[in-house]
Amino acid sequence: MSRLILLGAPGSGKGTQATRLTAKLGVPQISTGDMLREARKKGTPMGKQAAQYMDAGGLVPDEVVIGIVKERLQLKDVENGFILDGFPRTIPQAEALDVVLGDLNIKLDHVVEIAVPDEIIVPRITGRRSCPSCKRPYHVKFMKPRVENYCDDCNTELVQRSDDTEIAVKQRLDAYKKQTLPLVNYYENKHLVRKVDGSGELNEVFDRIIKILS
Ligand code: AMP
Repeated sequence: MSRLILLGAPGSGKGTQATRLTAKLGVPQISTGDMLREARKKGTPMGKQAAQYMDAGGLVPDEVVIGIVKERLQLKDVENGFILDGFPRTIPQAEALDVVLGDLNIKLDHVVEIAVPDEIIVPRITGRRSCPSCKRPYHVKFMKPRVENYCDDCNTELVQRSDDTEIAVKQRLDAYKKQTLPLVNYYENKHLVRKVDGSGELNEVFDRIIKILS
């Protein structure tokens, strides 16, 4: 059974590792960032409201994300586990999650903290690209496509996230330190934290995570 939270600064590789873990463990990835971007793309009122916070590199209000996750955790596919990627990000979100999980009568197994030094985060993020069609992630230096700026799988032109600019990244790092890092302490008190060194190759980091979970 795998009920995991992945904690990590923007650029820690948490999204990519969550996708790999999903494939390995056969449980769904629940990414609030992806769900918010989807709502934006569809132009829903919630998506429009979230957009202003996201583009400024700030956090979307707790009640909005808590509502999304609450709904998502009612779906059948989380029965055998889930990987929460990007949620919770604040203490009120973690407390709300405890209530939701308590109502469902389920417990978290681990909180994986992916730790990465600040100086490697900014180049990691500003070089990120992804395929808008199949979502495959790329990096202009570390994970280049075969043909520059086009997806290897579906040949779609790659895009950069609107909040992956240098200014927004600084804000996002700041939000992480002020609002999300206190969660490490919150979950340490529950003896759930497994810290992983997030520097180096994606494969190396993935192996470290698997080792820590087994
Ligand atoms: P991510 O893809 O996880 O980096 O999230 C992108 C952006 O979506 C963040 O910078 C926030 O603006 C917003 N977001 C995602 N998850 C949350 C959350 N749990 N709480 C508040 N805002 C969030």
